[in-house]
Amino acid sequence: MTEAFIHAENLTFSYKGSNGADDIPALTNISLDIQKGEYVAVLGHNGSGKSTFAKLLNLILEPTSGTLIVGGTDLSSGDLSEAELIALRRRVGMVFQNPDNQLVATIVEDDVAFGPENLGVPMPELRERVDGALATVGMSEYADREPHHLSGGQKQRVAIAGILAMRPECIIFDESTAMLDPLGRREVLDTIRALNRENGMTVINITHYMNEAALADRVVVINDGTLLMDGTPDEVFARRDELRAVGLEVPQCAELIHRLREAGVPIEGTAISTAKGCAELLVAAFSKRGNENG
Ligand code: ADP
Ligand code: MG
Repeated sequence: MTEAFIHAENLTFSYKGSNGADDIPALTNISLDIQKGEYVAVLGHNGSGKSTFAKLLNLILEPTSGTLIVGGTDLSSGDLSEAELIALRRRVGMVFQNPDNQLVATIVEDDVAFGPENLGVPMPELRERVDGALATVGMSEYADREPHHLSGGQKQRVAIAGILAMRPECIIFDESTAMLDPLGRREVLDTIRALNRENGMTVINITHYMNEAALADRVVVINDGTLLMDGTPDEVFARRDELRAVGLEVPQCAELIHRLREAGVPIEGTAISTAKGCAELLVAAFSKRGNENG
């Protein structure tokens, strides 16, 4: 059994209260493993602790208690040197919500080069990394453009390229599609999927969009700082009433199946999280009915 890329056990974090105020608990006893190459979506309403979880993985924050091991290194031991911290931080890349806050240079390729340059990557490897990263996100032809002329989706893809150029083993997207129009969202989601499926990148996608979560292999639901659910999209979205109780929805196609079942329509099967799966369940249910009636 190979060890998980991310291993969290009773991971707990509280923000220090300012001016003697009580500490603010953000995550309590989170236990989960994420394997290399997994594509995990993280759901939870505002303030549930999703970004705190991401920041712990990225070593921006240090656990208050519990265990957190990333890529074989114990981040909860509290005695990592500055050099170790820097080396570890680039193993887990982060893409944030606002594309405008993430681009630092005035030319796309300089922006993508910024991270690896700071890591001391020399020429010609730097050139290779930048070209490779831009090609991976489908932005090669924009290499010499100015970022502020790009669409939101294109800017996010440049931000992703900047992370890729640092050769991380895992990328966390913290609501990275939230500010994008539908086309931009599609571009970024296709990029995320290709990174996972074709390049074997471990992906953690924190999102508010249920349809987006349905694209992942696994969905983790965090509520009030605790782990509420952890399963495949079909397993998680089967638990609609529990999700609703904590203010979350299921994808519309799953909602349709739940309502038809409530109305007494016999629909068998579990593939409720995508339109394709739901369509197949409905076709099977209708053809069975047709056969029974004829
Ligand atoms: P999410 O990303 O799911 O919206 P966060 O991880 O940002 O949730 O926040 C979890 C909890 O921690 C919330 O109660 C939030 O108010 C609190 N919190 C987040 N950042 C800070 C901070 N810098 N200082 C104090 N409390 C914070
Ligand atoms: Mg957040």
